[in-house]
Amino acid sequence: MTRALSITVSVGVVMLGCGGSGPGPTEPPDNEAPSFASAPTTTGDHNRPWSYTVAVSDPDGDPVTVEAIALPAWLTFDATTLTLSGLAGFDNLGNHTVTLRASDGTRERRQHFILTVAPGEISCDQDFGDPLQSPYILPWRAGAEYLLQQGNCNGSGGHVNWFAYDFDLATGDTIIASRAGTVVAVREQFADGTRICGQEQENLVFVQHDDGTIMSYIHLTTNGALVDVNDVLAQGDVIGLSGDSGCSAGPHLHVALFAAQRTGFDRQWSLPINYSNASGMIDGQRQLVRSERYRALP
Ligand SMILES: [Zn+2]
Repeated sequence: MTRALSITVSVGVVMLGCGGSGPGPTEPPDNEAPSFASAPTTTGDHNRPWSYTVAVSDPDGDPVTVEAIALPAWLTFDATTLTLSGLAGFDNLGNHTVTLRASDGTRERRQHFILTVAPGEISCDQDFGDPLQSPYILPWRAGAEYLLQQGNCNGSGGHVNWFAYDFDLATGDTIIASRAGTVVAVREQFADGTRICGQEQENLVFVQHDDGTIMSYIHLTTNGALVDVNDVLAQGDVIGLSGDSGCSAGPHLHVALFAAQRTGFDRQWSLPINYSNASGMIDGQRQLVRSERYRALP
């Protein structure tokens, strides 16, 4: 059985304020508040520009001004282009309250939202800064020299979108603390040469510095951690012996620096490192260069 569907539409047109048929001059103007005709994306990544261009309309055709009355410090609002924009850093992860106000001079409307910033990809093309100002020294004793097998953000291999260095230390070679700090993690029970990936079988030492950052020293040899959790280390103190544990293609030391409270292989949280005592080539970004050798100066 088929049913015919019929729709009746009636259109009513009401003319207001045209040619004297509307409110008289003694009545108050029937002003309506402006409204927001746009909505923001309420998520963003750190290290990636976030922006929102506001669109407003006013039923009466009045000029509308927009201002930001609540904003996190990393965002700015341009009242001419009506654009809210900024670049969140690690310190800006989490939720931010934003309140915008649109006004036609008499009435206003607010738009309120929570913008959530999550860790994003790192900025591989950034400058690493002046090595001589770096708080880090190479993680081996003065006079020793090693090859950089893999550097930061390599397009292939294990360091894609990651600030990390692999140096060709042999199993048993001494590792020292690149910067003073407190040992916050130790793992040393796993065997060398297993080639097991993704199961946290890397022997390691993590050292947290006074700015909250954490240096990870990874792939140590079995029982190769020579420090304990809560040990307080000076720069240059011996922390362990290099090795070939966990996800490793051969003996080497993997080092990576992480933002506060983030450790291990969470590459989105990695930070660029250079070294104040490295003798060897640096590139235009002032980072160490893959396949180059680096000697630790005293
Ligand atoms: Zn590595």
